[in-house]
Amino acid sequence: MSATPTLASYEEALAAAERLAPPQDAFIDGAAVPALSGRRFDCVSPRDGRVIARVAACDAPDVDRAVAAARAAFEDGRWARRSPRERRRTLLRFAELVDAHREELALLESLDMGKPIADALAVDLRVTVDCIAFYAEAITKRYDEVAPTDARTLATITREPVGVVGAVVPWNFPLMMAAWKFAPALATGNSVVVKPAEQSPLTALRVAALAVEAGLPPGVLNVVPGFGPTAGAALGLHRDVDVVGFTGSGEVGRLFLRYAADSNMKQVTLECGGKSPQIVFPDAPDVAEIAGQIATGIFFNQGEVCSAGSRLLVHRSRKDELLEALVAEARRRAPGDPLDPATRTGALVERAHLERVLGYIAVGREEGADCVVGGAAAREETGGVYVEPTILDRVRPEMRVAQEEIFGPVLAVLEFETAEEAIAIANGTRYGLGAAVWTRDLSTAHLTARALRAGTVWVNCYDASDVTVPFGGYRESGFGRDNSLHALDKYTQLKTTWIQL
Ligand code: NAD
Repeated sequence: MSATPTLASYEEALAAAERLAPPQDAFIDGAAVPALSGRRFDCVSPRDGRVIARVAACDAPDVDRAVAAARAAFEDGRWARRSPRERRRTLLRFAELVDAHREELALLESLDMGKPIADALAVDLRVTVDCIAFYAEAITKRYDEVAPTDARTLATITREPVGVVGAVVPWNFPLMMAAWKFAPALATGNSVVVKPAEQSPLTALRVAALAVEAGLPPGVLNVVPGFGPTAGAALGLHRDVDVVGFTGSGEVGRLFLRYAADSNMKQVTLECGGKSPQIVFPDAPDVAEIAGQIATGIFFNQGEVCSAGSRLLVHRSRKDELLEALVAEARRRAPGDPLDPATRTGALVERAHLERVLGYIAVGREEGADCVVGGAAAREETGGVYVEPTILDRVRPEMRVAQEEIFGPVLAVLEFETAEEAIAIANGTRYGLGAAVWTRDLSTAHLTARALRAGTVWVNCYDASDVTVPFGGYRESGFGRDNSLHALDKYTQLKTTWIQL
């Protein structure tokens, strides 16, 4: 498909979707190749249940091939030994090419995992392009160090790429999550093997081809689509992979720690889930000002956001007015066709996930919560997978719907009386990814932010994010940070060179 804009209206988006030719093969050593076994899996669009591609089902032999290509590329220095300035130039061209193809990529993303086309363009594609360009620029502005030794010695501390990086990513922001890993890894000179989620392999495959078109040498960026227990495990257990950057569930994150222990002690960084609280204090700004943002905090991307503000902790004095406004917000976000530019809530990623989300709503009701809006599947006549934005009231901190990540558009509402109580409830899960504080008082904001155990705290906003600031979790939300200059640490290792003069 051409890089010319085509998505000005719903009709144009539908027509462009018909013309799409999704990639179907793995991308290894600069070329599109089928799996060695010849096996493929159906890539089903949750928009309407249609099969949109039959994608190569990679397994251990394909992962071996991709890792071997990445290793060969790394060892001969075709990318790693290019000067930072040359790497910058290629990566900037890559960012421009992704930007030029943003509509095609946004369509692939929207069809593949159900997100609204407007969000795919405004968030996923914008962030991906920014991320690649940021690390392209960053790498020419980082200096190494000279240690303060005595006059007859010179000790330099330099950063070197680690070698072969495995990037294992989830389906909720498929391209963006992959870029958060491959952009800093490539900028620092590594070779990369991406394992996209089986629910959403298309954009990573397309982007790898664009990288080669931009001048990235073959073998430096490879993509192996396939299932977790086969392709994912093979990458995690591979003895020639030096680092794995993983984003996904805590359950699979734990497996990657085990894979590292059972193989070559590769470094692992984990970005896992969350159950992020939004605390509304008595002096929070007006409901008219905050309800929309709180609703976006949970309902954006169908609630399939690791940092979704899925627990509303509201002071008793503000609860009734806020809940009324949030119910209206939920109704305004009824699911629609992901390809319609007016749609704010698209499809869930797959049927099994819909069952999981509905299962949690049922558990909440059984535990005594009150479902005040939503609670059911929607748009079933389309053959797609949709659920209504849902609010569960009268949730208590110990309930499963207050403790476990639902990963759908389901908000749990809890009340509190004192700030201490709010902080205890907020910190009372095993997670620690994000948290928000809504207050007009500067001291309340600072003191609460300090007391919250979370990688990001938002004050009077939700989900603000930028490539310039680190993103990642405390506790079982993982360790290691994506974004910002700090992410470069994950893909480099320090070398001391001690010279006697
Ligand atoms: P998941 O853990 O099921 O899958 C993530 C990746 O791991 C996929 O590529 C999958 O194929 C692979 N995988 C699955 N089983 C595997 C196995 N046995 N061995 C090796 N690899 C395996 O997660 P998901 O359902 O795709 O994504 C949802 C989860 O991701 C949620 O928990 C969400 O919170 C989390 N997430 C976290 C962040 C963050 O930055 N903290 C961002 C986005 C999503």
